[in-house]
Amino acid sequence: MIECCKCDKTGNGNAASLPRGWGFIDSPTIGRAPICPQCLDAEAEVAPRLRGKIINVCEDGTIAPQSLTETTKERLAQYISRLENLRIEKAEVSDRERDVYGDAKALGFDVRAMREIIKIRAKDPKKYMEEQQMLDLYLVSLEEKS
Ligand SMILES: [Zn+2]
Repeated sequence: MIECCKCDKTGNGNAASLPRGWGFIDSPTIGRAPICPQCLDAEAEVAPRLRGKIINVCEDGTIAPQSLTETTKERLAQYISRLENLRIEKAEVSDRERDVYGDAKALGFDVRAMREIIKIRAKDPKKYMEEQQMLDLYLVSLEEKS
């Protein structure tokens, strides 16, 4: 038999095999203790994703996420490292792009027009034509009106 640490509810089970809907909370004051579904609901209301999982209750009563397993920590570190490297690469590519525009500008090219051309050439030609036709239609209509 197991007893809820928040109320006087009891359930059929033990620490290794909790009754359906029950969970554990970790508290620095009471340690890891079983909690009934109703009390778990009340605790998890603050953090719904924790419902039905082992949750930690901090000393001030707020809920902290359960700690990560070693495998999860390892994976997280790998993802973060990959993302950080990509950020560095992105910054390097931006620097090189800026250099190219700088060179062109030094020789008198219109950098604004060049940026626009890069944008246009990246578009689908058919879609670009449609956009241009719409722009023309609107511009002409406005001219006719004035
Ligand atoms: Zn309870």
